[in-house]
Amino acid sequence: MIHLPIFMDIKGRSVLVVGGGELAARKVEMILKAEGRVRVVAESLCRALGDLADREVVEHHARAFDAADLDGCLLVFVATDDEDLNKRVSALATEADIPVNVVDRLELCTFIMPAIVDRSPVLVAVSTGGEAPILSRVLKAQLETSIPTGLGRLADFAGACRDKVKAAIPEGPLRLRFWENFMHGPIAEYVLAGQPEAANNLLDDTLNKAISDQGVKPHGEVYLVGSGPGDPDLLTFRALRLMQQADVVLHDRLVPDEILDLVRRDAERVFVGKRRGDHAMPQEEIGRLMIRLAKDGKRVLRLKSGDPFVFGRGGEEIEALSSEGIHFQIVPGVTAANGCAAYAGIPLTHRDHAQSCIFVTGHAKDDNFDLDWEALIRPSQTLVVYMGLDSLPMLSEKLIGHGADPNTPAAVVDNGTRKNQQVVIAPLGELADAVAKANLPGPAIVIVGSVVTLRKRLSWFNPAVT
Ligand code: SAH
Repeated sequence: MIHLPIFMDIKGRSVLVVGGGELAARKVEMILKAEGRVRVVAESLCRALGDLADREVVEHHARAFDAADLDGCLLVFVATDDEDLNKRVSALATEADIPVNVVDRLELCTFIMPAIVDRSPVLVAVSTGGEAPILSRVLKAQLETSIPTGLGRLADFAGACRDKVKAAIPEGPLRLRFWENFMHGPIAEYVLAGQPEAANNLLDDTLNKAISDQGVKPHGEVYLVGSGPGDPDLLTFRALRLMQQADVVLHDRLVPDEILDLVRRDAERVFVGKRRGDHAMPQEEIGRLMIRLAKDGKRVLRLKSGDPFVFGRGGEEIEALSSEGIHFQIVPGVTAANGCAAYAGIPLTHRDHAQSCIFVTGHAKDDNFDLDWEALIRPSQTLVVYMGLDSLPMLSEKLIGHGADPNTPAAVVDNGTRKNQQVVIAPLGELADAVAKANLPGPAIVIVGSVVTLRKRLSWFNPAVT
């Protein structure tokens, strides 16, 4: 994070503005909206500022800046064409520990102003760290269209009934859930639609019901969510929604921080990490933990890489849940094979190359493979091997031993869809050596079949291909 985002109460506090032009006027407008007291130091003023000075809305000193102008100021804005003056004010303010903003001069600023979407009291601030103000504006425009104009009304309504809700639902976690349902449900719809009376009636009914239900424990639930192979853009809307609702999240090593950062901030995080050959928490224990948390009334997010039902032990987990009568939801995710294939530019099927595609696990049990080799080496088929990085030498040997052509095109996609994606291409007979040389960190999948030759041709058109 380059800057600390804060919202500051400047009501009644002095803010110094050096400069009297249009840019200064825009800052003054903002300060006045937040009810700060403006002191402008400038030889002359533009018409908008002149008008405010005449009406004594701002205090104007028609002279050159003086160091003493900084005295008692909470913040300083500088908007002049005089480069030396800009630098001088910035240096003096910084020395006096007064936050300073010099318009369009990032290096002279100790704070910057975000682009904002104003639905007071709701404010959405967008910053690109001062690097790309146009991008901030584009984002702001997108937000303007997607955030309802009545959102401020909703915040006011929620604020006004906060005490009433607290009295009806004294228990913290239950109240939190009430508010979540409130925001997504019909009461909020009424408020947004400008029907406060209907909203109030429904609120009273809901609170009366909450009072009569007191002492009844809410139902816990488990969300078994596939988070895709790593790029957060590949999450589904449903995954994101449940990630925002969960009280506790159980995740393993394959789910990257970028995705975990999207889970509700105050949700408890439990790492149940599994590495190759190193099971941090045994599967049965994960199952027991989920059941205990759900019985406690928690909404448990079991975040899985890829898809929960593709080598994800999702089946075992829901069996454990059903046997205890726990409610659950399953959200599919983009499985590694699909994500890696797309981001590496390798189609899994193709009219001229492969009419079928087969997914297998390369995880050898006690160094022993129990795979149907004849089925894996069928012609016109793409073979995708999950968890095959460690066993790759043995795997290729077995495939070739059962009749696969050592020249069959093959690829290993490491950290597919992520920023550090690497692709190693080699004929099947040489793949293990090429991969050993590349020293890949994993996770990685192996793709075997003539579709791999299409990669070069397709990569021209796909910006995601590396
Ligand atoms: N449920 C997951 C698979 C879990 S098994 C899914 O549907 O994708 C773990 C294996 O998935 C890893 O050993 C690796 O083979 C593969 N994998 C997961 N994420 C990957 C990624 N970003 N790039 C390459 N392979 C990945």
